[in-house]
Amino acid sequence: SPRGRQILARLPGVPVTEVAGHWRIPSLHGNDGNIARWTRIKSETLVLGVRQSLTTRPNGRSADWIAPGASNGCAMACAYCYVPRRKGYANPITLFTNIEAITAHVR
Ligand code: SF4
Repeated sequence: SPRGRQILARLPGVPVTEVAGHWRIPSLHGNDGNIARWTRIKSETLVLGVRQSLTTRPNGRSADWIAPGASNGCAMACAYCYVPRRKGYANPITLFTNIEAITAHVR
């Protein structure tokens, strides 16, 4: 995407690995050996993706609506985090580069 290319242009020399999807990336997700590198992966890896589903659902609990986010993942390192088990032992930031489509949907 054009925004993805803009981001890459600001990161000269950074190795880029193209993958079919940002979910279940081979060598990143599903490798329980990665748990020892939990925080290092967060500081070394940025996943760029295109959000496919743009839907807003009613919530009614902590918010009125749940809108599509511009990113997922987490840069923190809480000892009690349950995400490693659910997300395949790696949880770097994934940034969705189709931000214009996301904000247009929210608008
Ligand atoms: S518990 Fe939440 S804030 Fe802490 S590392 Fe896990 S996802 Fe991030």
